[in-house]
Amino acid sequence: MNILYKLLWCLFFCFLSVHAEGKTDDRFVVVLDPGHGGNDPGAIGRKGKEKNINLNVAVKLGNLIENNCKDVRVVYTRKTDKFVPLHTRAEIANNAKANLFISIHTNAVARKNSGVMGTETYTLGLHRTEENLEVAKKENSVILIEDDYKQRYAGFNPNSSESYIIFEFMQDKNMAQSVNFATLVQKNFKGCNRIDKGVHQAGFLVLRETSMPSVLVELGYISNPTEENYLLSERGTSELANAIFKALINYKNNVPASLQTGQNDRVVELKKENTSTFKTQDKKVEKVTKDSKPVFKIQILASDKVIAKNSRQFKGLSPVDYYKENGMIKYTYAEDTDYNKILRIKRKTVDPKFKDAFIIAFKNGEKMNVNQAIKEFKNQK
Ligand SMILES: [Zn+2]
Repeated sequence: MNILYKLLWCLFFCFLSVHAEGKTDDRFVVVLDPGHGGNDPGAIGRKGKEKNINLNVAVKLGNLIENNCKDVRVVYTRKTDKFVPLHTRAEIANNAKANLFISIHTNAVARKNSGVMGTETYTLGLHRTEENLEVAKKENSVILIEDDYKQRYAGFNPNSSESYIIFEFMQDKNMAQSVNFATLVQKNFKGCNRIDKGVHQAGFLVLRETSMPSVLVELGYISNPTEENYLLSERGTSELANAIFKALINYKNNVPASLQTGQNDRVVELKKENTSTFKTQDKKVEKVTKDSKPVFKIQILASDKVIAKNSRQFKGLSPVDYYKENGMIKYTYAEDTDYNKILRIKRKTVDPKFKDAFIIAFKNGEKMNVNQAIKEFKNQK
């Protein structure tokens, strides 16, 4: 897309949202968070350091936003080569009441894998894979530099896999928007001939502590000599900054107006909406479980927060039901007394979308041991 068109698009949108909101001081706030800094260099390449690449791209991105979008306020977690603790970065974002948090990093792998290259964007997520865990550990290990990390992060050990299990249940209410923006970033990176290594979900500490849609961008691999040259070049950093800028414009253009400001109001709104939408389903559950056959369901998500029924987090599965257990809200899809039917639905429809989904069972409205339920089902036949 040519620059003039992009500029017009941006100006048009800026005008629209100011007009719609009716006040000019209610700007969309983007926090740019260049990873590492000061005595923490991040990944080190043959010629350059991650901290400098991150800052360079962040400042270019910030300039693009400030020069083109009057209705967006840019807040930096650092604009110079200094060390900023992770919790301070999150605090800066939360205090700014940011609408979007973009953490900018550069990746690296061991020298024997120096062929690896490409861009990745992470969101705080539900699904952990070994590989994601490695990246999360590496980026989080910076907290070891802070001498009081043990008390500050409540015993969180960035090198322990167990510490990340907690993230599984900390699904962020902003997940759908975070994934949405992350996808746009990757799409635009592809537009400047970067290898697309996709959108991932991982438990990054800096993202966990923010209360707004947030992503962590890995610009490329400093461990790959070709990519390092690109990351250190004027052209490379400009292209990468421009790609994230385009993603931001796309995102802002499509995000519902209710999400643009007043995040807390939104939560209340969702809660209200949910109690009414789920009420009718409660009755249905009662009816189905009246007879004493076990009812099988597929659990897809668990959250400590209410998720809107039509949320993208359900990846198009509908209708979604829920039950509460141990202070968590657990979301389920499908229900039937026929275990085989539920198993087929799980394999065909659910597994491709939620690879950690599992079957649970209820009897007379009470959750029961699923193995026992399967046994009872088989005895019925
Ligand atoms: Zn980093």
